[in-house]
Amino acid sequence: MTTSIIGFPRIGENRELKYATEKYWRKEISEDELQETARSLRLSHWELIKDAGIDEVPSNDFSFFDTTLDAAFLFNIVPESVKQLNLSQLDRYFALARGYQGDEGDVKALPMKKWFNTNYHYLVPQFSDKTEIKLTDNKIFDEFQEAKDAGIQTRPVIVGPFTLLSLSEYHDVKAGDFVDDLVDAYQTIFEKLSDQGAHWIQLDEPELVKDVTGDSKKLFDEIYSKLLSNKFGLKVLLQTYFGDVRDVYNDLTELPVDGIGLDFIEGRKTAELVRSGFPDDKILFAGVVNGKNIWRNHYEDTINLVHGLGVKNVVLSTSCSLLHVPFTIENEEFPEEIKQHFAFAKEKLTELVELQSILEGQGNNAETNNKKLFETARVTPNAKVAETIKNLNEESFVRHPALAERAKIQKGEFKLPLLPTTTIGSFPQTREVKRTRAKFRRNEITQEEYDKFIAGHIDEWLKWQEDIGLDVLVHGEFERNDMVEYFGQNLDGYLFSKNGWVQSYGTRGVKPPIIWGDVARTRPITVKWSKYAQSKTDKIVKGMLTGPVTILNWSFPREDISIKESTLQIALAIQEEVLDLEANGIRIIQIDEAALREKLPLRKTDWFSEYLDWAIPAFRLVHSKVKPETQIHTHMCYSEFTDIIPAIEQMDADVISFEASRSKLEILDELQKQNFKLQVGPGVYDIHSPRIPSVDEIKNTIHAILSKVPKEKVWINPDCGLKTRGITEAKASVENLTTAAKEVREEL
Ligand code: GLN
Ligand code: ZN
Repeated sequence: MTTSIIGFPRIGENRELKYATEKYWRKEISEDELQETARSLRLSHWELIKDAGIDEVPSNDFSFFDTTLDAAFLFNIVPESVKQLNLSQLDRYFALARGYQGDEGDVKALPMKKWFNTNYHYLVPQFSDKTEIKLTDNKIFDEFQEAKDAGIQTRPVIVGPFTLLSLSEYHDVKAGDFVDDLVDAYQTIFEKLSDQGAHWIQLDEPELVKDVTGDSKKLFDEIYSKLLSNKFGLKVLLQTYFGDVRDVYNDLTELPVDGIGLDFIEGRKTAELVRSGFPDDKILFAGVVNGKNIWRNHYEDTINLVHGLGVKNVVLSTSCSLLHVPFTIENEEFPEEIKQHFAFAKEKLTELVELQSILEGQGNNAETNNKKLFETARVTPNAKVAETIKNLNEESFVRHPALAERAKIQKGEFKLPLLPTTTIGSFPQTREVKRTRAKFRRNEITQEEYDKFIAGHIDEWLKWQEDIGLDVLVHGEFERNDMVEYFGQNLDGYLFSKNGWVQSYGTRGVKPPIIWGDVARTRPITVKWSKYAQSKTDKIVKGMLTGPVTILNWSFPREDISIKESTLQIALAIQEEVLDLEANGIRIIQIDEAALREKLPLRKTDWFSEYLDWAIPAFRLVHSKVKPETQIHTHMCYSEFTDIIPAIEQMDADVISFEASRSKLEILDELQKQNFKLQVGPGVYDIHSPRIPSVDEIKNTIHAILSKVPKEKVWINPDCGLKTRGITEAKASVENLTTAAKEVREEL
């Protein structure tokens, strides 16, 4: 029995890649310097994996931004506008990722979407009738060679053709048009890698854990029957993750692949499928160590699982790439009795190796230590929280009066103009803001000094918002490091790592808090600054909260109680906060559910029973007790909720804002068709890119929105918070937004 992993975090133990890349973008270092950082990170990661005792090491899991983008770039799936930019290869790559505005032209970034059920984002390749598939990049070959030169034989990894085609967007063409060319290109990769001395290639096909039926199944069959007709002497590992492959399991076992990677953690049916028969001439890459969560593996359960499979050739592996967990627990400051419960990426390598030795009849110590960890309950339950949950009934989840009635009341209350303008909450978090927060955290400045600083920022930005004529203001969230961590820090039951960063997109990371025990609110969280901001202006200032589903989805959840139960605990805590804000004069409260869609089961057939049936009520619980005249907003990143519109409506907020600028406005057609009742703020420009939208551009977007939504229901806002943007671009963009709204308003 041997060990392997699917992929390793690439940003570095101390986020070296992020810092170097951002310096490069700011033109503070040269491309050579950036490449050198990347090279040394790759090398140290390969060595770390090797030294931990892992037998088979992946390569090309590294990326400067995203591996799906790498694949698009490799296959020349690049829009003409970007190809024409007179830039270096690397800068053209970054232009795809971030857009480009400069001497060479003006192009938008590729759309970005959530990677399956994670908080990682991939860039969506765009196919058009101009797309001509051919190999135009050497990354996969260079990285294999780089490792080889360092004496490490690796298994190159690439997004598989089925997943690549399934995740892409098509303009006047369809996936099927590209199968032959794409298969040829993959085969060229096989051939080249084989010539270079590779033994294996790993094709990542997570798309296979979704419902694979009808057209999707046909596409898969077509691709793989062609692709595997010649492997050029390479062994092929077909790697899946994030679920089970129940629709295609039998097909996979019959394919001429050499290894099949299956997820035993999220794949509810994986064990059952494998027990029904796994071919002796193939290797099962058994994903038994959780690649997404940070708890220690339960060795006894894992050993029993593996023993019970009855498979001849097994490689012990992770359930998905370790990209989704932080680098190492070593640098954390938790006391030992807490620390011992965690395994981050580096520790998971050790877990695999320990499991391997136990399965080979050695490793008694590891086995005994692991057993001890699970012998006693980790935490004691919070009796008060349990009691409150027990007493919830149907009415606890219903707000009165109904939406239409509330809309009337609120209209009289607020007297907002048509097309009211607002922002999503945060304003740029400059270095100064971050540094001051850090100083305060380290007790280097007093509470008074810190408060003065935050108040100063709020004052300044309130004034700016008044000056440019925004209708509903925000305080700017300067006191928040992160929309989840900030709340967690003020709730019982949470733990925080110091360095537990996980890549979210490009150089952006999140540091998900850990739900350690029962969650409860112990003190007001946002009241102080919301109240302060409201006291400084006659305009309405929106209160700003994160919703329970998002808090849960962006935390590392417990594995000893259900996710549903943890979410209810969080919902009750946020409900207290909502009522506290209301009692303190906050009349509009936005409850962000940025990550609501993220954890939708990958199989549509599970959407309601496994998720929405409790997630939506959890949101309703949060605002069910507010007064009719209090307006509840919610915000969701990404407009990909076309297929769950009724569920979104059942959240029963008064207004919803969402991203629409990047993946166009198609969502509005659907909302119109389904007679969506809530007021909507479809983002009128893309905040994920530094480019500044012009007034005309925004006016066009507003007109497009008005052609689909009655004007009484439209809000005008950016598509997300502005905290990652620079001040100049943020201000210029929002000013253009208010100007555009005013000009369109006059036409109405
Ligand atoms: N209110 C948050 C902000 O503006 C929302 C962020 C998000 O949706 N990701 O930063
Ligand atoms: Zn957002």
